[in-house]
Amino acid sequence: MTETQAKNYKFKAEVSQLLNILTHSLYTHRDVFIRELISNASDALDKVRLKQVMGDKVADPDSDLEIRIALDKDNKQITIADTGIGMTRDELQQNIGTIARSGTSEFLKHISDSKQKDINLIGRFGVGFYSVFMAAEKVEVISKSADLKEPAHLWISDGKGSFKIEPVKEKVKRGTTIKVFLREDAAEFTEEYRIKSTIEKYSNFVPFPIYVGKEQINTVSAIWREPKSQIKDKQYNEFFKFIAHQSDDAVTWMHFSADVPLQFHTLLFVPKTNYEMMGFGKDEEGIHLFVKRVLIDSHSKDILPVYLRFVRGVLESDDLPLNISRETLQENPYMLKIRNSVTAKFLAHLKEFAEKNSEDYKNLWTQHGRILKEGYTDFAHKEQVAALFRFNSSICKTDDELMSLDDYVGRMKEKQDTIYFLSGPTREVLVNNPALEIFRAKDIEVIYCLDPIDEFVLPGLMEYKEKKILSADQVDLDALKEIPKQEPSPDKETEKVDEKAMDKLARRIKDILGKKVETVRISERLVDSPAVLVGKDKAMSSQMEKIMHMVNQDVKLTPKVMEINQKHPIIQNMLTIYQKDPTDPFLVKTVNSLFHSVLLLDGSLDNIQDMASGIQNLLSETTKMYLSKKSQKPKK
Ligand code: ADP
Repeated sequence: MTETQAKNYKFKAEVSQLLNILTHSLYTHRDVFIRELISNASDALDKVRLKQVMGDKVADPDSDLEIRIALDKDNKQITIADTGIGMTRDELQQNIGTIARSGTSEFLKHISDSKQKDINLIGRFGVGFYSVFMAAEKVEVISKSADLKEPAHLWISDGKGSFKIEPVKEKVKRGTTIKVFLREDAAEFTEEYRIKSTIEKYSNFVPFPIYVGKEQINTVSAIWREPKSQIKDKQYNEFFKFIAHQSDDAVTWMHFSADVPLQFHTLLFVPKTNYEMMGFGKDEEGIHLFVKRVLIDSHSKDILPVYLRFVRGVLESDDLPLNISRETLQENPYMLKIRNSVTAKFLAHLKEFAEKNSEDYKNLWTQHGRILKEGYTDFAHKEQVAALFRFNSSICKTDDELMSLDDYVGRMKEKQDTIYFLSGPTREVLVNNPALEIFRAKDIEVIYCLDPIDEFVLPGLMEYKEKKILSADQVDLDALKEIPKQEPSPDKETEKVDEKAMDKLARRIKDILGKKVETVRISERLVDSPAVLVGKDKAMSSQMEKIMHMVNQDVKLTPKVMEINQKHPIIQNMLTIYQKDPTDPFLVKTVNSLFHSVLLLDGSLDNIQDMASGIQNLLSETTKMYLSKKSQKPKK
């Protein structure tokens, strides 16, 4: 539909809300709007360049690709013009007005939450254009699309709820010109030094020349193609903030060029904050992909695997075809090789960074670790990724101490061939889990998996440096036989226990518990606790089963093996009761209550009611016994 008339439109509700906040608050970084308008101009230039190299016909093919800024002090105006792809009438209406991007409401939340009104991140949320209303009382956009058939249009708004679009009569060349009518209090932006310093601060890396008057302000350099030795940390960080829309410096970066057999340059950064983990969208994801200086994709997901999606940066290769579509890029064999090589290089970079800066790496892990862990499925780089994982373990002194699988392997006991872990909701629950008593007695380290995803990550790895990885509640005790106990307590060891009688007791307990347990046996792993539940060998690890059970109640928990500690007084008393009368009902009650208590410790107690009535039952009996015992004693 071609409109030849002027027409008024209402901004989309969220946009109106955003504009309302932007026009009525005072922000510390108001110059951000210059950056955002330049960044839009630069994107538009990238798009038209790509169209041209793909062989598409565009309007005014000979226009130089550039951005021009004009300042008019007397009228308090600033004009930013580009020769980019331009916008059609529909595009003007939708892109700046009626389409609310997913980022709009996220950004609204962000600025209403943050006390200092950090406007700096506006570009991240895909609503950068509107920042112009922090400084403008009126904005006019004249745009002529690169599409040959499309005429130019003028878009006007004062940012107060509506905008107008009308056709432009005069002949206009391809591109977009934005005229900003500055508010009284924003007149500073017509000062040349103010604009120049803003460009130097935020837009130095824009890949097209930016002119203020006749003077080119930015350097237009592809810093990733330059030799490392010539680039200072400050420049790296400026570049990072520019391409990643970030306000903090990067945590670490890798600048790497390859020549043969693959040719590429890459510059990759790890941001300080993980916005995805903070609940913001993932749309910023991806690496800028250039082919022969042309930006092919500003969010390419083909360069790095998905578990490195928190990384930002650039990759350029001259050996990729220019007219390649994003779809076919994925399967391009050369691209696959680049991806493999860059991934391996970057993982090695992270490992080195971790070794040299353990504190900084800890922060990196806290921010991005959850996503990095997804890398356990990357078969080709499994060991490299796993080396970057961090956990808490039985050796750590506090909750927030972290260790690596390499630390673990380095500390393994002489005859130990397996890496043990145990999952649970908190460190405290794990420390008290009776299944770990044998490990403590033998001073074998156990990794504490406190994040539910660990339950998939560690078994998913299967092994690390040729050591098996196994849940501690599935351990085959024979495997631990060779490893000596640390401090054998001699009197406990030598205590005589009637093993045959104990076996009988174990069978009786199984009788009483029936299908609730797989079997009952005498434990070799317990030291202080009377009993414990352990998994059947090779079964699904118990935490995993609990997760499945939580998700789907139809997945029944498979009965476990109950082990009893024959040296524990409760068990020995039970034996005495049993030997006097194997059918004693009091034995049945104590067995049930003992079972409930181990279920509780195991974290798999479903029926609290049963447990409570069992305890109360026992209490009524024991209080009775206590009273009768007391009344037998002569009073003083
Ligand atoms: P973002 O640039 O992050 O998408 P903006 O709110 O800054 O969000 O811009 C919205 C859209 O308006 C852009 O995606 C683009 O399609 C269009 N646009 C803005 N400025 C220009 C421009 N100078 N030339 C062409 N299109 C533009």
